[in-house]
Amino acid sequence: MWDFSFVIPTFLILIILFVFYFSLPRLPVRTNKVFVQIVIIEMLTVITDILASIVDNDLSGFSLQVVHFLNSAYFILFFVRFYLFYHFTEAFFNVDARKNPVRAMLILPVTAGAVSVILSLRTGWIYFIDANGYNPGRGYRFIYLELLIYIAFSFGLVFRYGHTKRRRERYAVLMYIILLLMGVIFRYLFPRFLLMDTFCLMAILVIYLSIENPEFYLDPSDIVFNGKAFRDLIEENNGKYDQRIFGIVIHNYYDMRDIYGSHQIDEGIQMIAAFLIASFPEYIVFYYRKGRFIILGDGQMDFEYMSSKISKRFDGPWKSNDAELYLKPCFITMQLGDEIASPDDIFNTLVLSFKKTDALNEKTPYEVTSNELDLTRQDLLVRRALEDAIEQDIMEVYLQPLFDASNDRIAGAEALSRVKDMDGKIISPGLFIPIAERSGRINELGEQVFEKTCRFLQENPPESLGISWINVNLSPAQFMRTDLMDRFESILEKYNIDPEIIHLEITEESMIDDGFLQKQIQKINAKGFKSVLDDYGTGYSNLTRLKKCPFANIKLDMSLVWDYCEAPDGLLPVMVKAFKNMGFSVTAEGIENREMAEIMKEAGCDYLQGYYYSKPLPMDEFIRKYGVCK
Ligand code: C2E
Ligand code: MG
Ligand code: MG
Repeated sequence: MWDFSFVIPTFLILIILFVFYFSLPRLPVRTNKVFVQIVIIEMLTVITDILASIVDNDLSGFSLQVVHFLNSAYFILFFVRFYLFYHFTEAFFNVDARKNPVRAMLILPVTAGAVSVILSLRTGWIYFIDANGYNPGRGYRFIYLELLIYIAFSFGLVFRYGHTKRRRERYAVLMYIILLLMGVIFRYLFPRFLLMDTFCLMAILVIYLSIENPEFYLDPSDIVFNGKAFRDLIEENNGKYDQRIFGIVIHNYYDMRDIYGSHQIDEGIQMIAAFLIASFPEYIVFYYRKGRFIILGDGQMDFEYMSSKISKRFDGPWKSNDAELYLKPCFITMQLGDEIASPDDIFNTLVLSFKKTDALNEKTPYEVTSNELDLTRQDLLVRRALEDAIEQDIMEVYLQPLFDASNDRIAGAEALSRVKDMDGKIISPGLFIPIAERSGRINELGEQVFEKTCRFLQENPPESLGISWINVNLSPAQFMRTDLMDRFESILEKYNIDPEIIHLEITEESMIDDGFLQKQIQKINAKGFKSVLDDYGTGYSNLTRLKKCPFANIKLDMSLVWDYCEAPDGLLPVMVKAFKNMGFSVTAEGIENREMAEIMKEAGCDYLQGYYYSKPLPMDEFIRKYGVCK
C-alpha cells in the first residue's frame, strides 16, 4: 500500500546532513538548539514512518502492540516536528512566546494532537486497526488543521518581524514555510508516497544552507567561534545573567607574523585555540582576527586564575611543525553584569580595549570599565549621527557674530557646524569633529559647511546683515589637501561668491611643516580668501614662525583670554601689539561678559567673539537678529 521511493532517499540524505552538522562545534544559541531538535525529531519521524508503513503493509508478522506503538509514535513525532518548525521561526526572530499569551497557547495544537493519538487507541479517532489493517479515523483531518495553524502563525511572524532580518534570511524563512505548506498539500493529494518527510527534509536543507550552517559561526580553523557568534550569543543573553569576558591579544601580532611567517602563526593560533578550549571547557572561546581571543563565561569566571594559567602556558613555546613560537599575551577583563548593552557597543569597546592593551603591553589584565562602555556607546551614536548628517546633507551651519571692538557693532561671523542626534539634540563639534577627522569624512563635512555658507551668502549678501565676511573653519586634513583651492573654486563659482567675503580659519595643528604652510596660505590668499589663525595659544607657534605666514587675523584662544581676564598681566597687550605691528588684526574668543569685553578692548584686540555678544545661532535666527542692520 505505501510507496517508499521517496522516503528511503530522504532518510539517507538526512544521515549525511546529520553527520556534517554534528561534526562541527555548535553555538549554544536558541536557533541552534531548536534546529538540533528538528533534525533529531525528523530522523525519528522518518524511521517510525518507514517502520510503521512496513508493518501496516503486512500486519501478519507483528503483534497489535507493536503496530499501535509504531503508528502512535509516528503521529506524535509528526505533530511535534511541525511545532518545532514554528518554534524555530520564533527563535529566529527572537520572539519570546512567554511574553505573548496568544503565542504561548500555540503549545496547545501539538498537545491536543498527541492526546488524541493516544486516545485513538480506544476511540479510533485519528486511526484504527481492524482486520483489514490500518485505517484513517474520523478525526484524521485534524492533522491538517494542526499543520495549517503552525504554518499560518509562521507566516504571521515573517510578516511582523521580517524587516528585522537580512533579505536573504527572510526569503529563506519564507521558502521553508512554503515548502512545509507544499508538503501538506502533497500529503493530502498523494498520501501513498510519504512525501511529507521529503518536504520537511527540503525545509531543513533550506535552514541549514541559509541560517544554520555551523560554519557561519566558526573561524576558518573550524575549532573556535567567530565574531558573529560572539555578537549573536551576547545579544541572546543580554541582561539575562552576569556575563564575564576574558580577552587575550597576542602582543605585536603583525610583527610576529613577519618574524615567523603567516603559516606558522596560523598554526600557533590554532594551538592556542585548542589549549583555551581544553583549559576552560565550561566557557566559550572565540577568535576575532589579528591574534585576539575572547572567552565568554558567567559570574563564576575567575579572572586571576585564568590569567595565571594562560600566562604560564605562554612562558613556554608553541611548537609547530618546524618552529618554536614564543608569543606574549596581554589580557582584558570585562564584567557585563546584567545591564543591557547592545552587542555592537560591547564588541566595539572590546576591539578598542584590545588596541589599548596591546599598546600598553602590561602583565596585569586591563580592566574594561562600564564607563568605557558608555563612551563607546556615545562614540557610536555620534558616528551614526555624523554619517547620516553627511550622507543626507542635513548638517546645519550656525553663525556666531564677531564684533568690532572700536564701535561694538557686528563686523563678521563664524560658521560653526552642528549635527543632531536621533532625538534632535545638538551634538557638540568637540565630539564629532575628531571622529570625522579619524574616519576621513572631515573633507566632505568641511565642504558641506563651505557650500552652505556660500549658499547663505548668495541668498543674504553680507551688506544685508551688516557684516563684511564669514569665517569658515578648515580642519588640518582639509588644509593639507593640495587640491583644496580647486574644490572651493567650483563651489564659489556655483554660487557666484567673491572669496573676499570668506575668511578661512586654520588651527595651529595645521602648522606642522613650515614650507607647506606658507605655500598653502599663499595659495589661499592668491585665490582671494583671507586666512585666519584660530585658537592661538594652544599650540607651538611663535612670533618668528608667524612672521613668515601671511595671516590677516589671529584669534586668541579663549583659554588665553580667560586667564588674562582673571589676572591681567603685561604680557598679552605686548603680544597683541607685536601681532599688529606684523600686520595681523587680533580677535579675542570666549568673551562672556561686559567686563571681559572691556579688558580685551583695553588690551588692543580688534574684534571680539563670545556668548556676551551672542551664542552661535541657526542661520534663520541670525538673519532675524542682524538682518535689520543695514
Ligand atoms: P572654534 O573654531 O575655536 O570655535 C569657537 C568655539 O567656541 C565654538 O564652539 C563656539 O560655540 C565657542 N564659543 C564661542 N563663544 C564662547 C564663549 O563665550 N564661551 C564659551 N565657553 N564658548 C564659546 P563649537 O561651536 O562647539 O566648536 C568647537 C570647535 O569645533 C571650533 O572651535 C572648531 O575648532 C571646531 N569646528 C566647529 N565647526 C567646524 C567646522 O565646520 N569645521 C571644522 N574643521 N571645525 C569646526
Ligand atoms: Mg574657529
Ligand atoms: Mg577658536
